[in-house]
Amino acid sequence: MDKTVRDARPQVRPTPEGWVQAMGPDGRPALQFASPKRGKPPVHLADLDPAARRERLKELGMPAYRATQLSTHYFSRYTDVASEMTDLPASSRDELVAGMLPPLLTEVRRIATDKGDTIKFLWKLHDGALVESVLMRYPGRITLCVSSQAGCGMNCPFCATGQAGLTRNMSTAEIIDQVVRANRAIAEGELGKAEHDGERVTNIVFMGMGEPLANYKRVIDAVRIMTAPQPDGLGMSARHITVSTVGLVPAIRKLAEEKIPVTFALSLHAPDDDLRDELIPVNSRWKVDEALDAARAYFEATGRRVSIEYALIKDMNDHGWRADLLAAKLNERGRGWVHVNPIPLNPTPGSIWTSSEPDVMREFVRRIEAAGIPTTLRDTRGKEIDGACGQLAAADA
Ligand code: SF4
Repeated sequence: MDKTVRDARPQVRPTPEGWVQAMGPDGRPALQFASPKRGKPPVHLADLDPAARRERLKELGMPAYRATQLSTHYFSRYTDVASEMTDLPASSRDELVAGMLPPLLTEVRRIATDKGDTIKFLWKLHDGALVESVLMRYPGRITLCVSSQAGCGMNCPFCATGQAGLTRNMSTAEIIDQVVRANRAIAEGELGKAEHDGERVTNIVFMGMGEPLANYKRVIDAVRIMTAPQPDGLGMSARHITVSTVGLVPAIRKLAEEKIPVTFALSLHAPDDDLRDELIPVNSRWKVDEALDAARAYFEATGRRVSIEYALIKDMNDHGWRADLLAAKLNERGRGWVHVNPIPLNPTPGSIWTSSEPDVMREFVRRIEAAGIPTTLRDTRGKEIDGACGQLAAADA
């Protein structure tokens, strides 16, 4: 397809379908940054660092050294069942577990697809809020997509999660418990055909419900626990943890200063403010150039190559000139610092939110690659169960 024909294609504008987007007093889509006040989840071992765990045990009138035993059970054996902790005195097991490992996630539903290689979990939190996580087996790695908030306040018009607004921030332990519960499912042989013994989640992507950087402190604390060596944490590699954002610029800059070498992903989806203001309402706060400058600063501070996520939506953001503009904006900021991941949206006949045509996707990728930027068309694993990015609407139906 030549450039004239391509650029003559229509421009579909982003609008919510089948629901009404909440508007703010300025007439723009409302953004919700503060978490509504709700009863806090119970304090759990995974909310605390090792010193605070010992302190809490002392407060509960129990010996501080039990912290390591409980951490081993939880982070290495994936259990919070008192009767399985036979190295603890029978007389105090129940009390230790009740004080340090209170239940956080109640499993509501589990759906497996891709021959058992993908599992979507629906969890109920202590206050009835619902969140999801999606577990995916790939050759040589197991990835868990975790939620960081119940609902989301960013109000993106294509996203099922954002429709009901932000219910509340998840606690650090609620984020971690998704990983521990996934590890338990893997250990129980639930995730397809195992490649070897002792398998567990190797990669985390913060791309489930919520905007991770809007729940900054708890997300960072969760990353610290994920990367802390066992028995104090899950002993995962920071490089295998991806923190994504729609572009909360001050938080991106703060993340760069943490010096935790997580993979950072910016969900850009449009290189021009005209479209992105509508597609990603937070763009009205921080524009494309500001988000890209912050992403570049993340690379400079950490040496970690940044990922740009770009959902390809038919006739909305997949025009050739947008591929060229994206490539130009990235190259303006230097070479070798960024990787583009276009993601085909799910084909949804009759909706404006549908996948680009295959030849359009190929052309989009070709143009960015021609500008010297590594680009990988991502697969949409999980789409059969509505677990792909931006589709997580925890409805208990
Ligand atoms: S796409 Fe992400 S940031 Fe936007 S509303 Fe959905 S969960 Fe929130």
